[in-house]
Amino acid sequence: MHELSIATSILDAVEREGKLHPEASFKAVGLRIGEVSGVDIDSLTFGWEAITKDTEWESLKLVIESVPRKNRCTQCGNEFAVRDYEIECPACHSLATVNLSGDELDIAYIEAEELEGAEA
Ligand SMILES: [Zn+2]
Repeated sequence: MHELSIATSILDAVEREGKLHPEASFKAVGLRIGEVSGVDIDSLTFGWEAITKDTEWESLKLVIESVPRKNRCTQCGNEFAVRDYEIECPACHSLATVNLSGDELDIAYIEAEELEGAEA
């Protein structure tokens, strides 16, 4: 059910944009979802289809980009991909590393097309 509430909040954001840009026709919503965000992409896609079915947003596609988890070492500044929750710096073996990415859930963009004949 978590994914369904995420889908609902994405749709809320799209509807807000739609009110601001009545001349635009939305084609796709781009999402950036971190691989450790805990979001199940299949469930999210399914929830999205369920809430947009038979609405004006039915043809709006979700385009999901998975963001890998990365950490940065505070000792040597090395940035590295985290595998299997192993946070040790591969360069200097320090454990003092901080998370850079991988838990985000962002709307990256909304792809729109101006309706034909719309006034500028
Ligand atoms: Zn290091």
